[in-house]
Amino acid sequence: MRFHREPIEVSEAQKKILSFIEDKKIETVKLLDSEGRRLAREITATSPVPHFDKSPYDGFAVRAADTSGATAQEPVYLTVVGTIACGDAPDFAVAKGQAARIMTGAALPEGADAVIMFEMTTENEAHAEKRVGVKKEMSPGENVIKYGEEAKEGDFLIPAGKKIGPGEMAILATFGYAEVPVFHRPRVGVLATGSELLTPDQPLSYGKIRNSNSYMVISQVKQAGGEPILYPSLEDNPDAAEKTIRTILGEVDILITTGGVSVGDFDVMVEVFKRLEVELLFNKIAMRPGSVTSCARFGNKMMFGLSGNPGACFVGFELFVRPYLQAVQGKSNPLLPQMQAYIGKDMPKPSSFTRFVRGKWKMEDGKPVAYPVGLDKSAAVTNITDANCLIQIQPAGRGIGGGDAVLLHLLPYGAGE
Ligand code: AMP
Ligand code: MG
Repeated sequence: MRFHREPIEVSEAQKKILSFIEDKKIETVKLLDSEGRRLAREITATSPVPHFDKSPYDGFAVRAADTSGATAQEPVYLTVVGTIACGDAPDFAVAKGQAARIMTGAALPEGADAVIMFEMTTENEAHAEKRVGVKKEMSPGENVIKYGEEAKEGDFLIPAGKKIGPGEMAILATFGYAEVPVFHRPRVGVLATGSELLTPDQPLSYGKIRNSNSYMVISQVKQAGGEPILYPSLEDNPDAAEKTIRTILGEVDILITTGGVSVGDFDVMVEVFKRLEVELLFNKIAMRPGSVTSCARFGNKMMFGLSGNPGACFVGFELFVRPYLQAVQGKSNPLLPQMQAYIGKDMPKPSSFTRFVRGKWKMEDGKPVAYPVGLDKSAAVTNITDANCLIQIQPAGRGIGGGDAVLLHLLPYGAGE
């Protein structure tokens, strides 16, 4: 007996998947290892920034009141009583008529309330004492980076769920987060099925093909923040497949299989789902390619059965697996970002299901225009490299014409790196 196959809409399938993100695991990693991870809690300022008044320039720390009336023609001369380098805690004060040489980022000495840039001063060799001529009248607070000016202690800085990149690393280091709470990277088993599959190092033989899906999916998993684990591909043999998959499910958080979900005589995953008595979320989606994309729960493990056709496998991952992987790592909008665009050419192929065509969009005359990439066949593998979006085409008897509006789902690839 086969599973009954009732197609559901893409959005409904996504909703079902995203209803299973209760088990978000948190771990603490060293700051250096946190790059690319997602923050498990919001980050606040542990101290003010800066935590002392400091100089933004190389120059002289002065008392603004002392510079009254100073001009380039008639500088006001002040006695230089010390030098403050970056990192110094000045142990002297600037009294009336005095100044201190100060470097960029150094702490202001007691008594000083302004910094005059070095370029706005002149030296007077005629005096025995070290003196500086100030060529501009200063106001109190001028050129001083004030205590707490950038952040106050307790200020909100980064929301939970945000991916840690350059700006986040800088904040975490600034505020002393040597250890960072992040969401667990799910361990994702990647398992191709199909008796036709060869490994990339095997020579081609008639009727066989090399397994490309596993390597494509491993890249997709990594880019979605998961930790992929490659398993050797399976023959289309339900007994062996069931045994292997039971073992793998004990080792991973999520299992992605490719192939074997169609209605062919040897479609092994259909049989394995049945034998495992999984909780089936769906096994048919009203979309092309990949209408047979399936998803099930085995205990608390999510199983994604992607189509074997490389194009369909790619699309199935992006629409269903990526959002799940991102959601379990705390991303708040886990679906691919969307954008309205125009289609660049006629696509007359009729379809009763919504199509997700691998495409490339670019700006033309100030408008985003999307083109399908090469062969629009779910079995095509060589054009995935060109795709930077999925073009959503609503079901229509006649397809759509060039210039029609379409919705794009933007992929994080193909930006030309
Ligand atoms: P299936 O979904 O198992 O019916 O597979 C559909 C077609 O996709 C197969 O006939 C293969 O040509 C191709 N295919 C299946 N698995 C892979 C794979 N791992 N890598 C590349 N192509 C595959
Ligand atoms: Mg197969």
